[in-house]
Amino acid sequence: MQSPSGKPLPRRAANDIPPGQPRPHATYWLLAMVAAMALATAATLWWTLRQTHVLAQPHQQNDLWYVSSVHNELARVSLLARKVRAREASTQDLQERLEVLLGTLDTSGRGPRVSTQLREALPEAAQDLDSLRPLVERWSTQLAPLATQNGNGKAAAITADIVRQSDTLLDRLRKVVANVHLFSAQEANQARQQLSQRFLVLSAVLGGLLLGTALLIAKLVRDTRLARAASQQLVQANRQLEVRVASRTRKIEEGRALLSFILNTSPSDVVLAEVESGRVHFINRQLTERLGLKAAPETLFLPELLHDPETRERFTQALDRYGQVDAMEAMIGEQDPRWSSLSARLIEVEGQLAHLLWGFDISAHKALEGQLRELATRDALSGLLNRRAFLERSTALFDHCRRHGQPCAVLMIDIDHFKRINDRHGHQMGDVAIRTCAEAIGHALRDADLLGRLGGEEFAVLLPHATADSATVVAERIRSAMAQMNLMSPQGQPLSFTISIGVAEMAAHHAGIEPLLVDADQALYRAKATGRNKVLAYEAAIGQP
Ligand code: GH3
Ligand code: MG
Ligand code: MG
Repeated sequence: MQSPSGKPLPRRAANDIPPGQPRPHATYWLLAMVAAMALATAATLWWTLRQTHVLAQPHQQNDLWYVSSVHNELARVSLLARKVRAREASTQDLQERLEVLLGTLDTSGRGPRVSTQLREALPEAAQDLDSLRPLVERWSTQLAPLATQNGNGKAAAITADIVRQSDTLLDRLRKVVANVHLFSAQEANQARQQLSQRFLVLSAVLGGLLLGTALLIAKLVRDTRLARAASQQLVQANRQLEVRVASRTRKIEEGRALLSFILNTSPSDVVLAEVESGRVHFINRQLTERLGLKAAPETLFLPELLHDPETRERFTQALDRYGQVDAMEAMIGEQDPRWSSLSARLIEVEGQLAHLLWGFDISAHKALEGQLRELATRDALSGLLNRRAFLERSTALFDHCRRHGQPCAVLMIDIDHFKRINDRHGHQMGDVAIRTCAEAIGHALRDADLLGRLGGEEFAVLLPHATADSATVVAERIRSAMAQMNLMSPQGQPLSFTISIGVAEMAAHHAGIEPLLVDADQALYRAKATGRNKVLAYEAAIGQP
C-alpha cells in the first residue's frame, strides 16, 4: 500500500500501541500476578494457621503433666506406704491413695494418657507407664479387703511391696519425666522453627502481594494519566478537525456561491435535474426566465423542455445510448419557443441519475440562417424560386401528387424574341420585361402552384391537381395576359412582347419532375417552331410537324 505521496506506508502490527498509550495487556498481567499472590498468601496463611493450631494442641503438655501427675501420685503413695508401715497412716488411707493413683493412670479413654507422639518417640517410657497400671491395680485389689484391718500382716506385706517397688518405679518415672520434658522441649523447638519458616514464607508472599498491588496501583495511575492525556489530545484533535471542517465547508460554500454566480450570470441556460423524479438540483436565472417562470421550479423533466416531439425523441435516445448530447439544435420552451444549441450529460448526483444541460440561444443565428437560405433559393431579379429551388420543391410536389394518385402538370414559359428587346431597348429594359413577365405569371396562378425562373427569360410552373387540359387553360390565360400587356421603353416608345408556353401532364413513364419538364420543353420548342405566341400541350406538339 502507498501513501498519497507515493511513499510506502510503515508497517504496523495489529497489536502495536503507539508510545504513551495505555497497554491493557500489562494491566491484565499485573492483575493476574496480584491474584496469584493473593492465592499464595491465603494458602501460606492457612498453612501457618494449621501449624499454630498443631502447636496449640496440648498433647505435649499433657504428656508432661500426665507423667508428672503419675510420678507425684506414686510419690504420695510411696510416702503414705512408709507412713502406714510406721503406723502413722491407716491402710484405708493407702487404699484411697492407690485409688487416686489408679484414677490418674486411667486409660479407659476418658482420662489423660500418653500421646501417640510420645509413644512413638519414647516407646520405653510409654511401656513403663503402661506397665504401672496393672501393678497399682493389683495393689489396690489386694489391699481393698484389708483396708479396715490395721496391723494385718498381709496388708503389711503389701505395704512393704509398695514401698520397695515404688522407689524403683519413682526412679524410672523421674527419668521418664526428664525424657518427656526433653522430648517436649525438642518438639516445641522444632515447631517454633517450622513456624518461623512459615512466617518467613508468609512474609515473602505478602511482600510479593504488596509489591504486585503497588505495581498494579502504579500502573492504573499511569494508565489513568495516559488515558486522560489521550482524551485531551482527542478533544484537541476534534477541535482542530472541527476548525478544518468549518474552513473547508466555508470554502465549499464560497465555491458554490461563485459557481452559482457564474452560472447565473452566464449567457447560457444551465439546469441539473434528476432523471426519475425530475428534482431540480440547479437551474440558472437565465433559463428560469426563458421558461417564463417567476422562481426556480422544484421539478423539471429535461426532455419536456424540447418543443418538437421528434427532436425530443432524438435527444432522449442519444442521452440514453451515449450518455451525452453535443450541440443539438432544438426549440425549447412551450410558449414562445426559441432555438437553442443544447449539450447534455447523463451523470450521477447523490446516487441518482441526473441530466445536466447547457444551452445557448441561437434564435438570431437561426433567423439569419433562414434569411440566407431564402436568399439562396430566390432569383435576385424576379424574386421567384431559382432553378435549383424550383427543382427541389417541384420534385417534392410531384412525388406527393404521384403518391396520392393526383394529376399534375407543368408549364415551360419562354419570352419570344427576347434578344431583340435587349438589343433594341437595352439590357435594363430586358430585366424589366423579365420582372413584368414573372409578376404576370404569378398573378395567374393559385397559392398551391409553384413558379420558378429556370434561367434567362425562361420560367417553369408546376400545377398540382391539374391535367393537361386545365393546365392549358391556365397557360392560355397567362399567354393572353402577356400579349395584352404594354410596357414603356426608356425612350418613351410602347413596348409589348409575347410568350410561348409548352404544357405537359404527369404520366406513368415520368420517373420524376425532370422528364416531365423535358416533355413540356419539347412542346415549347414546337410552339416556338410553329409561330410563337402560343400554348402547346405535349401530346398535341408531338403530333405536329
Ligand atoms: P426565342 O423567341 O427563340 O426564344 O428567341 P430569344 O431571342 O428570346 O432567345 P435567345 O435564347 O436567342 O435569347 C435569349 C436572350 O436573353 C439572350 C440573353 O442575352 C438574354 N438574357 C438572358 N438572361 C437575361 C437577363 O437576365 N436579363 C436580360 N436583360 N437579358 C437576358
Ligand atoms: Mg426566348
Ligand atoms: Mg429562351
